[in-house]
Amino acid sequence: MVETSSLLGWILASLLGLLGVYVYSVATRNAEANRRKVVSEGRSDSVRNLTTTKEERRSGGDASDDADVIIVGAGVAGAALAHTLGKDGRKVHVIERDLTEPDRIVGELLQPGGYLKLIELGLQDCVEGIDAQRVFGYALFKDGKHTQLAYPLEKFHSDVSGRSFHNGRFIQRMREKAASLPNVRLEQGSVTSLLEENGTIKGVQYKNKDGEQQTAYAPLTIVCDGCFSNLRRSLCNPKVDVPSCFVGLVLENCDLPCANHGHVILGDPSPILFYPISSTEVRCLVDVPGQKVPSISSGEMATYLKTVVAPQIPKQIYDSFVAAVDKGNIRTMPNRSMPAAPYPTPGALLMGDAFNMRHPLTGGGMTVALSDIVVLRNLLRPLKDLHDAPTLCKYLESFYTLRKPVASTINTLAGALYKVFCASPDKARQEMREACFDYLSLGGVFSSGPVSLLSGLNPRPLSLVLHFFAVAVYGVGRLLVPFPWPKRIWIGARLISGASGIIFPIIKAEGVRQMFFPATVPAYYRAPRSRG
Ligand SMILES: Cc1cc2nc3c(=O)[nH]c(=O)nc-3n(C[C@H](O)[C@H](O)[C@H](O)COP(=O)(O)OP(=O)(O)OC[C@H]3O[C@@H](n4cnc5c(N)ncnc54)[C@H](O)[C@@H]3O)c2cc1C
Repeated sequence: MVETSSLLGWILASLLGLLGVYVYSVATRNAEANRRKVVSEGRSDSVRNLTTTKEERRSGGDASDDADVIIVGAGVAGAALAHTLGKDGRKVHVIERDLTEPDRIVGELLQPGGYLKLIELGLQDCVEGIDAQRVFGYALFKDGKHTQLAYPLEKFHSDVSGRSFHNGRFIQRMREKAASLPNVRLEQGSVTSLLEENGTIKGVQYKNKDGEQQTAYAPLTIVCDGCFSNLRRSLCNPKVDVPSCFVGLVLENCDLPCANHGHVILGDPSPILFYPISSTEVRCLVDVPGQKVPSISSGEMATYLKTVVAPQIPKQIYDSFVAAVDKGNIRTMPNRSMPAAPYPTPGALLMGDAFNMRHPLTGGGMTVALSDIVVLRNLLRPLKDLHDAPTLCKYLESFYTLRKPVASTINTLAGALYKVFCASPDKARQEMREACFDYLSLGGVFSSGPVSLLSGLNPRPLSLVLHFFAVAVYGVGRLLVPFPWPKRIWIGARLISGASGIIFPIIKAEGVRQMFFPATVPAYYRAPRSRG
């Protein structure tokens, strides 16, 4: 009897096991089919099948057939990458939509960690001769109090600090430097699609300066077409979030309360930033939550800036701020965040904002892009020949893990800090914001730790999580002193749960394993196919 029932048990367990395996395999197949469907839907408008363009290739429609690498876009990432790969002896063809000096409100403060990467890439002279300003830390303002947070630069050469500048001037210097290499060809043109043959990207189709359709081929195409990328859909799963917009102004001839520092005002409804971008100009970025900003043309924006924002800024810069609003050169830009979710594709790679974005509150985008370029350069260096696209693609999968310590630390901090720094009617969130300001004001490791994470000087995800929860515990501790009234215990519990609700989803999107246990990811150990 016992034997019969155990046999039945075995059969039942086996059947359940088989059913489980079947359900799992169907689910996996469906997920893969869905992924392929999404990719192919995305591909249909950003990728062209090469068979349809072979005629053009044969008939000499080719602009340049023999580059090692095509780079789409010569912004911060594309220009720095072109110089880096060109210096390593690659034949590089860069196609940039507009080669005139960009005039934008993005990418104006390079963190010291990013400056260190610039040195590693031999590009540090690109911040010289453009009236760039040195930045030594932050000044934080909240409800009339203020605190100063210095970058921990003691261990570095005296030249190392943050740099702030006109983004366009910096980009033009990098473009000029890249184009000065004989093996780098910088061409004005707008890339319309990637060219694919049997799942491998073989090059691009683009319109040159004269509007003529051209094609270019290379074993590796690196897409750096920025935050509004049209080409990324076939190469990644772009989950773009736009939590807010920045409204940009330039203040002229005004002295900031702390010279050579970035200024962050913990305003209501959200933060306001000031930092110098030349010896006579200060950039102001006002965060406006949501995707809609008051209309500039109707004057609503000027009214908003004067009535809601101006009363919150330090007295010393009030007049310059109002004068800048009256002058009227007001610009806006959406603040996007997008975790990196690549579809490893033979023959192609994404870099810069096209690949990964975070809230610009902490000015981390250029640091992540430059750090990624260092990782990629080191991976490509041992390879003489890039033609075996599938093998190269497998090998380059390690890039996605090796970049994580820097990228995930900066991304997570930017997203979490933005949420903590926003005003809220919720008492627990107010306590967290207050605790964060007071924690950073404690000085010592309490300010140098978070600041070195933010500046890219200490890219350690674990250290970030520890500081984040230390702030939350500090906030709870303050609530429970001098007496733990039940209402205060309740707010403390909500503070901890709110803090977890902020940071854990960001960590999940970054990838827990890649972020905290990169050594357990098999791709981490991929070796190059050939050594040169
Ligand atoms: C409001 C705001 C403020 C920011 N402030 C900072 C800051 O202070 N510090 C910081 O580190 N980061 C900051 N960032 C982020 C930073 O600007 C980006 O991370 C950085 O510019 C990314 O560089 P990129 O090369 O990927 O993109 P971009 O610098 O935008 O370059 C993309 C290039 O591709 C070209 N292009 C686009 N499409 C095509 C096409 N089809 N064919 C050919 N060329 C094409 C464009 O013309 C452009 O030159 C900020 C972002 C925002 C939104």
